[in-house]
Amino acid sequence: MADKISPERRSENMRRIRSKDMKPEMAVRRLVHGMGYRYRLHRKDLPGKPDLVFPSRKKVIFVHGCFWHQHDDPKCSDGRPPKSNTSYWHEKFKRNVERDAEHKKLLRAEGWKCLIVWECETKNLDKLRKTVKHFLGAILRRDQ
Ligand SMILES: [Zn+2]
Repeated sequence: MADKISPERRSENMRRIRSKDMKPEMAVRRLVHGMGYRYRLHRKDLPGKPDLVFPSRKKVIFVHGCFWHQHDDPKCSDGRPPKSNTSYWHEKFKRNVERDAEHKKLLRAEGWKCLIVWECETKNLDKLRKTVKHFLGAILRRDQ
C-alpha cells in the first residue's frame, strides 16, 4: 500500500518526536555532565546522530523515547502501540525500530560501543547513574 502521509505531515511528525524526546535527553545530559564526563552532541557524521558522543572512549549514548522507539520491556507501559490506527503505527514503529538496529550495527562495525537509555529509565537516576558509570568507566583527566 502507498504511503499516504504527505512530506509536510511527516516532518511535522518528526518535529513532534524530537520535542517529545527532548526532556529525557536533557535529564541524561545533566546526569552525565554532573558525573564529570564530557561529551559532544548529535555528531552528524555518525550513524543515527547519537545524542551523546564520547570520542576518546569511542562510545555513544542514545536516549530513546519509549513510545517512538517501542521499548520492548513488559515493565514499560509506554512501549505499547496505540489501539487505534493500528496499521499506521505498526509500519511507523517498524521503521523506527529497524532504523535503530541499523544505526547500532553500523556504529559497532566502526568500533563504537552504544548504550541505549530509555525514557522510563530516566525516572530512576540512581540506577541510571550506575548504568552510565559501568558503560563509560572511570573519569579520565582528558574528560575534564
Ligand atoms: Zn520504557
